[in-house]
Amino acid sequence: MSQPILTSSIDGVWQQPGRRVHERRNPGRTDRIAARWSPATRSQARRAMDGAARAAAHWSSKGPKTRLGLLREFLKRLEGQAGPLARMITRENGKTLEESGAEIRAALADGRYLLDQVRNDLLRSPGSSGNPKKALIHEPVGVTLLITPWNFPLATIVRKILPALAFGNTVVLKPSELTPGPAVGLVRILQSIPFPPGVIHLVLGTGAGVGPTLTGHPALRLISFTGSNRVGLRLAEQTAGRDVRLQLEMGGKNSLVVLADADLDAAVEAALTGGFSCAGQWCTGTGRVIVERSVYELFCDNLGRAVRALRTGPGDLKSTRVGPVISAQRVRFARRSIREAVAAGARLVCGGAAPLPTTRGRSGNYVTPTVLADVLETMAVFHEELFVPVLPVTPAKDEADAFRLANLGRFGLSASVFTSSPKKAGRFIRGVEAGIVHHNLHTAFRTSDLPVSAWRDSGRGIPECGHYSASFFARPRAVYLND
Ligand code: NAD
Repeated sequence: MSQPILTSSIDGVWQQPGRRVHERRNPGRTDRIAARWSPATRSQARRAMDGAARAAAHWSSKGPKTRLGLLREFLKRLEGQAGPLARMITRENGKTLEESGAEIRAALADGRYLLDQVRNDLLRSPGSSGNPKKALIHEPVGVTLLITPWNFPLATIVRKILPALAFGNTVVLKPSELTPGPAVGLVRILQSIPFPPGVIHLVLGTGAGVGPTLTGHPALRLISFTGSNRVGLRLAEQTAGRDVRLQLEMGGKNSLVVLADADLDAAVEAALTGGFSCAGQWCTGTGRVIVERSVYELFCDNLGRAVRALRTGPGDLKSTRVGPVISAQRVRFARRSIREAVAAGARLVCGGAAPLPTTRGRSGNYVTPTVLADVLETMAVFHEELFVPVLPVTPAKDEADAFRLANLGRFGLSASVFTSSPKKAGRFIRGVEAGIVHHNLHTAFRTSDLPVSAWRDSGRGIPECGHYSASFFARPRAVYLND
């Protein structure tokens, strides 16, 4: 059955496909097409921004109750579409159906929390009855560009688009070219409610194809971006000096520290979840494990045994625990990284650079789940965000050395310590350079009520989620009345 061609939506109208149509292959079964899509032209990208600018005054004039009511209806309809959307995420991204379902549940939880927060901010602004009377009003900022990645192709959109629209901004969404389907699905749901035309636009395309038109548009006031450092920092350069607010959620190299007094089974389980869920393609996942010397060999043995037992395969098979990675290029990167680390002296505990035998001839972007031990702080795999199911493990002399190693590098997204000592955990929490810190939990654990706080080169601007959205998506207006 031939796939319909996905296109952009401008001013509420789905565009006709252009001459160029891209095929997105299913990463777990590369002989199958997961999506066909047609990129927006530059003129369409410009029209989307123009339309968002035209609709801004009308949308912001709708009261908060109307806006919040429409967005609550959106969440309800999204929940109703969870099954087909999860299957679409698995087809385009490759993650397991279980992981796709979890992504949608997380998006719904974030969405509900964010709408409650926005309601508190908008409807319960503090006022006073003294003289002069005072009030704080949250005004929209204006045309908002949302640029999203492929690794959480639905959840990252939901947690940006809800606060953006709720505060009265108009939105242009530019999803990853590798996962256009979930974005199209979300915009279809939004249009079914319906929102007024011009409030939400969808622009499909590559960064190079449509990016400069969107980011260079004079009406642009906000960019909420999740993706790589390379692209995020380029956006900062491109918009420098203009009245454009930036929220950049970028890479990480999240340390899991295991001290000698830790519950080792729990630490192995955390390394498994943090290092291999979503095939290692999780921004807050575990990027390296640092283990105190006296339990190091035992930890490596136990982790190796657990990782060898992980079943790799297509995300739509129930038995699969680790799905494929996003592209063949990432498979080559993984294999090169493993080879280079081993050549530099790292020890292969399990996995390796050879193609995976267990996929039984199925074509797909598979990387054998790999544990590298004896990784030194001088090696590239210790510092680089790998974003593949390859987990480096490094021995530490003692607690102080472990904490020092955890802080090396440019990133500061998430970190975790496993120890039975609350004192040691307290020292770690105070000393680690990361915006999200855990004790005896895997590095990607989070709840909707706290922000995705990214320190150092992992982020710029006001963090996403939690109760910070008013700081980014709204302009506070201080009002004094002498009447
Ligand atoms: P990417 O930077 O390659 O792409 C992200 C988005 O930017 C895509 O939509 C892409 O088309 C767009 N883009 C690229 N060039 C552009 C340009 N010049 N102008 C405008 N848009 C442009 O990232 P990716 O490979 O899709 O995602 C993986 C990265 O995302 C990893 O580094 C990961 O750590 C990061 N990530 C971070 C978080 C977080 O919360 N910190 C969450 C998820 C993913």
